[in-house]
Amino acid sequence: MTDLEQLFTTMEYGPAPEEKSTAAAWLASHQNAFGHFINGQWSDPRADFSTTNPATGEQLATLSQGSKEEIDSAVSAARKGGEQWRALSGHQRGRHLYALARHIQKFSRILAIIETMDNGKPIRESRDIDIPLVARHFYHHAGWAPLIESELPHSTPHGVVGQVIPWNFPLLMLAWKVAPALAAGNSVVLKPAEYTSLSALLFAEIAHRAGLPPGTLNIVTGDGATGCHLVKHSEISKVAFTGSTEVGREIRKSIAGSGKALTLELGGKSPFIVFADADIDSAVEGVVDAIWFNQGQVCCAGSRLLLQEGIAEPFIDRLKERMSHIRVGDPLDKAIDMGAIVDPVQRQQIADYVETGKAEGASCWQAECPLPESGCFYPPTLFTGVEPAHTIAQEEIFGPVLATLNFRTHDEAVALANNSRYGLAASVWSENINMALDVASRLEAGVVWINATNLFDAGCGFGGYHESGYGREGGIEGLWAYRRSHADLPADLVTTVEEGPQSSPLDSLPTETLDRTAKLYIGGVQTRPDGGHVRRLVDSRGQPLGEVGEGNRKDVRNAVEAARNGTKWSLMSPHQRAQVLYFIAENLEVRTDEFAKRLEGQGSAAAGEGTIEVHAAIDRLFTQAAWCDKFEGPIHHSTVGRIVFALPEPIGVMAILCPDRNPLLSMLSLLGPALAMGNRVVLIPSERYPLVATDLYQVFETSDLPAGSVNVITGSQPTLNRVLSSHDDVDAIWCVGNRSLAKECEQLSVGNLKQTWTTAGERDWFDPELGSGREFLRRATQVKNLWIPFGE
Ligand code: NDP
Repeated sequence: MTDLEQLFTTMEYGPAPEEKSTAAAWLASHQNAFGHFINGQWSDPRADFSTTNPATGEQLATLSQGSKEEIDSAVSAARKGGEQWRALSGHQRGRHLYALARHIQKFSRILAIIETMDNGKPIRESRDIDIPLVARHFYHHAGWAPLIESELPHSTPHGVVGQVIPWNFPLLMLAWKVAPALAAGNSVVLKPAEYTSLSALLFAEIAHRAGLPPGTLNIVTGDGATGCHLVKHSEISKVAFTGSTEVGREIRKSIAGSGKALTLELGGKSPFIVFADADIDSAVEGVVDAIWFNQGQVCCAGSRLLLQEGIAEPFIDRLKERMSHIRVGDPLDKAIDMGAIVDPVQRQQIADYVETGKAEGASCWQAECPLPESGCFYPPTLFTGVEPAHTIAQEEIFGPVLATLNFRTHDEAVALANNSRYGLAASVWSENINMALDVASRLEAGVVWINATNLFDAGCGFGGYHESGYGREGGIEGLWAYRRSHADLPADLVTTVEEGPQSSPLDSLPTETLDRTAKLYIGGVQTRPDGGHVRRLVDSRGQPLGEVGEGNRKDVRNAVEAARNGTKWSLMSPHQRAQVLYFIAENLEVRTDEFAKRLEGQGSAAAGEGTIEVHAAIDRLFTQAAWCDKFEGPIHHSTVGRIVFALPEPIGVMAILCPDRNPLLSMLSLLGPALAMGNRVVLIPSERYPLVATDLYQVFETSDLPAGSVNVITGSQPTLNRVLSSHDDVDAIWCVGNRSLAKECEQLSVGNLKQTWTTAGERDWFDPELGSGREFLRRATQVKNLWIPFGE
């Protein structure tokens, strides 16, 4: 029998290796040694570290470790290059991006091969998924370049952007970062991951050949230290990072208070939820894509399989059967399903997690698929009998390991799915679309796929909730990350308001002033401060104005708890929320004279100007009420058979520290959008002028605002800022005050990676462009991208 006849009989796959001579020739043309790509030129190569093919152990090239000086020179090139780039019209920039897209298609084969050799991912994936998505990203953003000014009005580019990317999708992550940055008018310095720098270097060469002006895109290779120099560089205005949550935290801390914009795309532990009425065969295939795509080294991998109890057993049987057909081997072989793990260090980490899973009592099953004798491979692995508290159910393993848990009701499925510090993605499988959409709406995740998994498109945003980071990549949300809105003034613009009453904390509550002490407002109830301390307020002439409570750590905890429980506000329809905000505005209007007197009496408004501020505040509240049911997300027509809803959702519990300037107007300008979008708020009024806030909660009490929606704590802003910034039940914090508060706020926010907005309070709050508008609403929401199938 001939070989061919034998293959027909056994139906075994024959070897189908991809030809790699073009890739080898490109490496050889550089003598397998690379410098950095700065200002359209190669720096002299140094053999500081090497990059290897994880499938074979073969060294592919040596690379240079970017020093501080080299980062300086790349940033300086980007600054100059950026000026020229911005001098081009949107149309001209679009033409450049379009040329890049065309060149990626032209060089797609060599890009795919280099990617597979350097990373170990199957050529089937790099050729058919990664590189086409890279090209699509550049095409899509080529289209945005001429539209930026009209579609993202009142905004400017950041300038030089520093980008740090991981090794799991080297070129795709580059495209996700570089394409929107350039389309939005920025120039770029990018550091690829140490394990996988080659495709970025090849891309730089291709971009140069495609005529991208020198300095627009600069690539500096190196390890975490190089990344650290880059993000900390004083001329970088925006940092974009994808990688581990741990490094994301480090970066957040290291650039705190610098005024740099930051987006973080971090880890995940995404649930893959299968209901009893799902199409089981499709769901099994879905699991294969969810966790064994790219050897499970995917931030949004469906690594927690949640099965409805009735189908758990047969589902696992079918899954095991399917797993035994997964082919692991040479990633350059076109018939291979799973390639190599990127590095022995990563493989060891995976193996350690698997041992932990066994030791904690879960059952481990591995498919008996043959592994190559050498190289860095790991078999597809399935755990059953996993408890929610097990390490393998909580930690991101970043390898081909699936943890299975069971649930009974759909409420239980939601609770299990949300039982994670991450919130990147989720997959819901059911033939009952009503139920699937209900579950999707309750999942705390930035991307939800219904009856699908791992779908991406340049036109749709991608990014997480909670410790999966913040900011979106793709779509218009992703573009906004590369523009600075005019309403986002740097916090260091703040100057101190000189005149006005000084306040000072008193040690204890003097009994004779009991009646005049404004209390805190927590859970809809006026509450005395926990410590019993008060703060005395005097006007500019030193005359007593009154006293407010001095809130402490315990008061903050109570307020956050009240806000956390105040879910009624978030569950109300936008129309109902608008009615309450209108009602607050109307009730404020009734008390115009009283508030005007307060503003003038405390010296924050000049004589005769208090009424103007009250009227402006009422006007602002009406505007925010109007936005309640009008700030909506786009609907994307993505890949065939899918429609994607980009839903702006409330972030959850927000803390807002208000500035001194125009204390009533600024407070309502900040509180309004947060409430309009469905958040519950812990409000820290201006330390200098807190009495407008304590007057205001009396208005809330007559305006049908549900308990817990707004909680007011007066006292020392630095003290309250510290507690709120480090509180893990606060999801976002706006610190509209001075620079030192901003720095501490950002530094302390890393525990639960809360979203921070540290911006200047010293602005013209009367100007509608600076005191209201879409930037405030964007900051008060996070977008969930919901992928819905249609058709048979
Ligand atoms: P890291 O987060 O360490 O690396 C991501 C990028 O950041 C790399 O380019 C890295 O450089 C760089 N970097 C590291 N430290 C710093 C720093 N202090 N300042 C600036 N840049 C820095 O991920 P790893 O590659 O080390 O992988 C570790 C774990 O992270 C994985 O096991 C996985 O769990 C998770 N991970 C998650 C990803 C995701 O998309 N969610 C992607 C990759 C990893 P260098 O390559 O030289 O280390």
